[in-house]
Amino acid sequence: MRETKSTCPYCGVGCGVVIESEGRSIVGVRGDQDHPANQGRLCSKGSSLHLTAAPELAQQARLLQPMRRLQRSAAPEAVSWDAALDDVAARIANIHADHGPDALGFYLSGQLLTEDYYVFNKLVKGLLGTNNLDTNSRLCMSSAVAGYKATLGADAPPACYEDIDLAGCLFITGSNMAWAHPILFRRVEEARARNSQLKIIVADPRKTETAELADLYLPLQPGSDVMLFHGLLHIMLWEGWTDSAYIARHTSGFAELKQLVREATPEQVSRVCGLPVADLYQAARWMALGGAEALDGQRQPTLSLYCQGLNQSRSGTANNAALINLHLATGQIGRPGAGPLSLTGQPNAMGGREVGGLSNLLSAHRDLANPEHRAEVARLWGVDAVPAQPGKAALEMFEAAADGQIKALWIACTNPAQSMPNQAMVRRALERAELVVVQEAFAATETTAYADVLLPATTWGEKLGTVTNSERRISRVRSAVAAPGLAQHDWQIGVQLAQRLERRLRHGLPSLFAYDTAQAEAGAEAIWNEHRESTRGRDLDITGLSWSVLEQQGPQQWPMPSGADSGVKRLYADGRFATADGRATFDVQPWKAVAVRRDARHPFSLNTGRLRDQWHGMTRTGQLGRLFSHVSEPQLQMHAQDMQRLQLQSGDLVHVSNPLGAIALPVVADAGLQPAQVYLPMHWGSMFLSGKSSKGLRLAGVNALTTDQRCPRSRQPELKHVAVKVLKAEMA
Ligand code: SF4
Repeated sequence: MRETKSTCPYCGVGCGVVIESEGRSIVGVRGDQDHPANQGRLCSKGSSLHLTAAPELAQQARLLQPMRRLQRSAAPEAVSWDAALDDVAARIANIHADHGPDALGFYLSGQLLTEDYYVFNKLVKGLLGTNNLDTNSRLCMSSAVAGYKATLGADAPPACYEDIDLAGCLFITGSNMAWAHPILFRRVEEARARNSQLKIIVADPRKTETAELADLYLPLQPGSDVMLFHGLLHIMLWEGWTDSAYIARHTSGFAELKQLVREATPEQVSRVCGLPVADLYQAARWMALGGAEALDGQRQPTLSLYCQGLNQSRSGTANNAALINLHLATGQIGRPGAGPLSLTGQPNAMGGREVGGLSNLLSAHRDLANPEHRAEVARLWGVDAVPAQPGKAALEMFEAAADGQIKALWIACTNPAQSMPNQAMVRRALERAELVVVQEAFAATETTAYADVLLPATTWGEKLGTVTNSERRISRVRSAVAAPGLAQHDWQIGVQLAQRLERRLRHGLPSLFAYDTAQAEAGAEAIWNEHRESTRGRDLDITGLSWSVLEQQGPQQWPMPSGADSGVKRLYADGRFATADGRATFDVQPWKAVAVRRDARHPFSLNTGRLRDQWHGMTRTGQLGRLFSHVSEPQLQMHAQDMQRLQLQSGDLVHVSNPLGAIALPVVADAGLQPAQVYLPMHWGSMFLSGKSSKGLRLAGVNALTTDQRCPRSRQPELKHVAVKVLKAEMA
């Protein structure tokens, strides 16, 4: 039996795994004792990975050869790699020539590896000359990116997992980490058991398993986060709990923020957020002073942990920034146990950001809007220029395809026909596009049904490269078994497409994509080295982090510049931030209500989120019966009072609708919800949960109902709230 160290492909905790394999089969998996993120532990999803890779399951579920449809209504037929890639390269080149580069759109995934991302970014922005490259990280972490940049000057989470052990107060907001980041939550539970002085505050509209651990639970109203954070600052100011020396020395813009939060009085905040005034005072005190009733004025450290509850909002950037404001105003940053630490949903959302894998970013945290950054990246890539024209973010890309402006959509390792909001619009886009290419490991997703060409990709256990977790820690992903069928690594597919396009667009010039596709380890390492060099002198400088260092020293946190012995645990310890003048900037944004408010016709707030044992659209986890033992079917969760009023029993079929679409499913009582709130997990597709749009289009799952209203700064949609109507099915 062979053992191979790698990384879990699910959430952003980034747990290390040891894969046990025999020949071409993965036969076991266990947590890697040496990996700092998990120290040998795995959650229910991670510890089942080998079962989802079992050959008999893989044979049923995997896409094993390139497939092509000559007509959308026809069944796809197997073709060779050369035929598939020649065909798509020719069609992309034709669209490029006839309609210009901005008629192309590439939609990638936070589950790709850094090397995959790097190649596609260079291909799209460098070779094809369009910035229409975005990823499903837009739906997940783009508000965290924008929040960090607006306040601290760079997209760099300043704290680390060890800070959970050192904090005096943990403020967990917009995150059910007990289910979504289980191994990190175990660290919270251990801190709780070890430190009787530790104070845990949980703010969430739903009383989740995470909230059960709280000393203070704040069941705020959906979308009232900015009001809560402004109100806490108001109290901190009034009570003298801010750190005026830190504010004066290391920040700017506090006078304006102070003016803004003057109106966020405890009474006003109590009314908007639905929270008792006394709880607001308690939360403000613990957050500012680090819990433990501040031990005679000694400020203990406070760590904030947060996720989609803040990000997936029309106020996503303001939510993130208003929370960071609190850390800056109290000096709770840059020291052990303190700081804001966003939890990344996907395994490599962070790595994607590092190589510039969003439509507004460029390599190594450079900004597309900055002409010097564009010129630097063009030099690094060896192209004349990177286009200045802003690229389309996820939703805009699909809206442009639905309008006929984007003619070709290339989709890799993600399932937008299920996972994007306003699903009716997304499905219209997929129908209207002249060319849809889907690069996937799994054969039957909601999106593969729309593909003209399907390209089989490798997946966990087969892939190799690197990923970065929520604490900036870069880990190796290693290949334990050979790819099944004709599947290839995502970066290899990108390189072969690029080389074909170069023959048309840069004929006679040396290739920009001369990576060794035959020797996967060598090819991926060469891509890594190019990415590594692009970070020189940047905030995330990893010029000291070669693959041999990763091999010898194990996973490392960035930055790790040339000559450094190890990565950096926490950032901004010297109080110098990544802004031009070194001062952090307070973000001054007023509170705004949710985009689609409840009214008499649609009186329920629908919240969406994850289950403990499922992952995204269930392409992998949905294959295993044992992962359904926790929750076996999609159910609409509802408060018992509302069920009584609507004369519903648990198990009754209900019809949930709004102007975007409708679905029918069983209802179940949930004591964690407040009246007028309902909750539905995001995982179920049409195999389990079909619906339709107001125009009769077939839809699937919760995104039949979610809104495409988005944060104007991060362009992240408000997946966490939409108003719906709920009726007993026979009355609908
Ligand atoms: Fe994988 Fe996340 Fe579970 Fe760790 S906590 S095993 S990374 S799903």
